[in-house]
Amino acid sequence: MTTLLLRDADVLVTMDAARREIPGGGVFIRDGVIEAVGPSAELPTTADQVISLAGTVALPGLVNTHHHMYQSLTRAIPGAQDAELFGWLRRLYPIWAGLTPEMIRVSTLTAMAELILSGCTTSSDHLYLYPNGSRLDDSIEAAATIGMRFHAARGSMSVGESQGGLPPDRLVENEAAILKDTQRLIETWHDPKRHAMQRIVVAPCSPFSVSRELMRDATELARSYGVSLHTHLAENDNDVAYSREKFGMTPAEYAESLGWVGHDVWHAHCVKLDAPGIDLFARSGTGVAHCPCSNMRLASGIAPIPAMRAAGVNVGLGVDGCASNDAAHLLGEARQAMLLARVGHGPAAMSARQALELATLGGAKVLNRDDIGALAPGMSADLVAFATGGLDLAGAAVHDPVAALVFCTPQTVRHSIINGKAVVTDGHLLPLDLPPLVAEHNRLARQLANTAH
Ligand SMILES: [Zn+2]
Repeated sequence: MTTLLLRDADVLVTMDAARREIPGGGVFIRDGVIEAVGPSAELPTTADQVISLAGTVALPGLVNTHHHMYQSLTRAIPGAQDAELFGWLRRLYPIWAGLTPEMIRVSTLTAMAELILSGCTTSSDHLYLYPNGSRLDDSIEAAATIGMRFHAARGSMSVGESQGGLPPDRLVENEAAILKDTQRLIETWHDPKRHAMQRIVVAPCSPFSVSRELMRDATELARSYGVSLHTHLAENDNDVAYSREKFGMTPAEYAESLGWVGHDVWHAHCVKLDAPGIDLFARSGTGVAHCPCSNMRLASGIAPIPAMRAAGVNVGLGVDGCASNDAAHLLGEARQAMLLARVGHGPAAMSARQALELATLGGAKVLNRDDIGALAPGMSADLVAFATGGLDLAGAAVHDPVAALVFCTPQTVRHSIINGKAVVTDGHLLPLDLPPLVAEHNRLARQLANTAH
């Protein structure tokens, strides 16, 4: 048994049922699970490891509910900088066709390093291209190397251009093979237990790249193993038009007709989710991954997040793939969620604390977990702390250090604890050396762009 004591935070944001913010707070952890939370004076005084959180705001580790980490290799690619979704995809598919297992592994490590340093401790990743022998296992092994809590979504595309889909034929897979590989991944990697570090998600890419049959078969497979389902839905007007033309239904109606609603389902974007769709998602417990930067970058629109929250829809945040963000700073995404809600729906549409709630508790609910997203006894020991004394929070933390995190967005965490282990200490990422990783990532990014055909 090992114990870890984190103590003396300027403020500890619990996100517990009472939303307590504890001055001088701390957390006592045993074997990766929180045993006690409170004022530091009321906690045990010794532990195997003691870390001082003095000079920081501490909060539950942030949860990222939507990403495509391989896209870190194709940020800011000329020709895809100024397009909307479908044009952007058509420019990038031929480049992504050159992905290799090594590229998946290195880009996942790079994306996870960026997420962790911005406060994220749990992430999902939606990998839906498997060229040149790439496997989801390449991502899962990278997550284990860096120590991130990971929901690996086995994406897929099966309807190529010749069948009326968007992706080129050489990037799509056979549907029986998709289901077989997904089953293999669940049986190899999925951990259903509380505090799990690895879960598998069944995740056909989108209604415009897979068939109705695969969407339906995916629900049967996922539910027979008790794993979650994830896809893209109602991202922009073209997406809705495609759904009406091909299926004669709105995206929400299409999702419902295939069983794609429930606590075990979450959809990325939902920028164009209509009022009946919001009501459906609220009633069924269906989750939404809100990706404000991506929605702005691709001019998809402003998601109706305040209406979703008012109706009781579970909403989390996603940085989305790096090629449409192009940054993957999760605390920054919380700030953008707050700002974009105000642009669309007025200054009272979202407060800083509500944005932090989306980034923590909201994300946990979307991933169908009740063991992360808050600091309370019995929860997984995932905690991050941001320093309050630097330039980024000067003149802000003295007034309201919690709101200052969202309004000012400090760049890097001082400490990150994942599953009871220190992954960042004093701003240093412990599991790997960043400069060689970035150099390798850049070498592969150049190679990928140069071999596009
Ligand atoms: Zn996406």
